Amino acid sequence: MALKTGKQYLESVADLKLEAHMLGRKSGDLGEHGLVQPSQKAVAFTFDAAHDPATRDLFCVESSLCKAEINRFTHLHQSAEDLVNKVKMQRYCGAGTACCFQRCVGLDAANAIYSTTFECDQKHGTDYHQRFKDYWSWIQQNDLVVDGAMTDPKGDRGKRPKDQVDPDLFLRVKERRPGGVVISGAKLHQTGMLNSHEILVMPTLTMRPGEEAWAVCCAVPTNAEGVRYIYGRQASDTRKLEADPLDVGNPFGGQEVMTVFEDVFVPDERVFLDGEVDFSGTLVERFASYHRQSYGGCKVGVGDALIGATALIAQMNGVAGASHIKDKIVEMIHLNETIFSCGIACSATGEATAAGNYLVNLLLANVCKLNVTRFPYELARLATDVAGGLLGTMPSAADLNDPVAGPYIKKYLAANPDFPVVDRMKVLRLIENLVAGAGAVGYLIESMHGAGPPTAQRIMIGRQADLEQKVARVKNMLGLV
Ligand SMILES: Cc1cc2nc3c(=O)[nH]c(=O)nc-3n(C[C@H](O)[C@H](O)[C@H](O)COP(=O)(O)OP(=O)(O)OC[C@H]3O[C@@H](n4cnc5c(N)ncnc54)[C@H](O)[C@@H]3O)c2cc1C
Repeated sequence: MALKTGKQYLESVADLKLEAHMLGRKSGDLGEHGLVQPSQKAVAFTFDAAHDPATRDLFCVESSLCKAEINRFTHLHQSAEDLVNKVKMQRYCGAGTACCFQRCVGLDAANAIYSTTFECDQKHGTDYHQRFKDYWSWIQQNDLVVDGAMTDPKGDRGKRPKDQVDPDLFLRVKERRPGGVVISGAKLHQTGMLNSHEILVMPTLTMRPGEEAWAVCCAVPTNAEGVRYIYGRQASDTRKLEADPLDVGNPFGGQEVMTVFEDVFVPDERVFLDGEVDFSGTLVERFASYHRQSYGGCKVGVGDALIGATALIAQMNGVAGASHIKDKIVEMIHLNETIFSCGIACSATGEATAAGNYLVNLLLANVCKLNVTRFPYELARLATDVAGGLLGTMPSAADLNDPVAGPYIKKYLAANPDFPVVDRMKVLRLIENLVAGAGAVGYLIESMHGAGPPTAQRIMIGRQADLEQKVARVKNMLGLV
């Protein structure tokens, strides 16, 4: 079954019987939980799009491993065109859900691990690449969702893993047993973890000699023994538990989970790096760059939704014709398309790795993500400006439904008579969700920190820009020595 529908995906994730600590209680039946449902709905969107005649061609692709037709969310990119199509697909999902749809991080991890294991085997005579191919072919054929787990808690940022007060502050191999390793530690901020079937664990930074225990990459089922989950809070998240959905703003949503690995056994066939410190940096750099490319699609899609909502609220408020409003919306479009241009550019100029899959242009992927740490904030500022103060002060859906308060709300929140008051409230709530509510986790905080904070991109840009060549060219042009 290479192409699941959204419904089949939801059933398959329910079968995992995952449990999580949420708001002080241990919860099962997560698909029934109001906090989780919007995030599962967003992942299901990526499955249904593979069956929709309008988007099938973009979402379906032939696997390089098993030759079956698969969802592009599990594809190993075989060309620059594949990289471009990935970004277009992500934009489509972002625009359709207005949130983080959670499925990119595993895709980015897989493509990074594929090429890194190939090169590691060449140098060290290991057999990680074949193991990974077998594993990933199984993922493709079963159309599974994979969480990409890179970020360790990291403890004192000024200290190396081995110098932390607790060695588990960076996930590590704690013990070796016949046939596998035992890992211990945690991964924070894990996107879509409880909506995933599998976890790809990766090191969080370039390890050095002496730090072999922390240079580990492996796959773990989300329902493996010893893996524990603590649900992350989002602003206004308990609105999702209220009876009337109006105040939630967006029927879709993201999910981040603190994930603890308490002495989890991983069999050898699921281990893809084990102590080869010289390849930890390659893996981190490639994963991060693919993920920085991803933001050139997904955040643009969410930006499309914010721009659409802003243009609509301007009509509803009766200001759509004002020149400064039109100009602010053009500015939003300009910023959003600038991010998209970077996403497309780093894809179109991607190149084949030694393993055969395609890697993005590292310089342009980092430029893309650095813009993402800024532009969505400016889009959010402009949307807040255009929407008006009701964004932060509007009465609740419960009061709208109240026999006494409701008529006042309908009377005094009336604006352009072409639009019902309740529709105006819905659009305001969507904008609120994206700039200050649960959706701002995906649109703003993730834009800043997801795939690494801005300094990480600046370091990569400095490394990749070939400054020496630029200096040499100027010297040559001026005839200097
Ligand atoms: C919504 C969201 C979703 C995410 N999803 C995932 C996911 O699915 N998988 C995953 O693996 N990760 C995920 N992340 C994690 C993300 O990659 C990290 O948040 C990011 O790398 C920053 O790490 P941090 O949060 O530990 O912040 P820190 O590393 O503490 O950074 C905070 C600040 O300190 C600075 N800093 C850090 N260390 C040093 C140092 N040694 N010296 C000087 N300055 C330093 C940074 O530059 C930054 O300005 C997600 C994050 C968010 C917010």
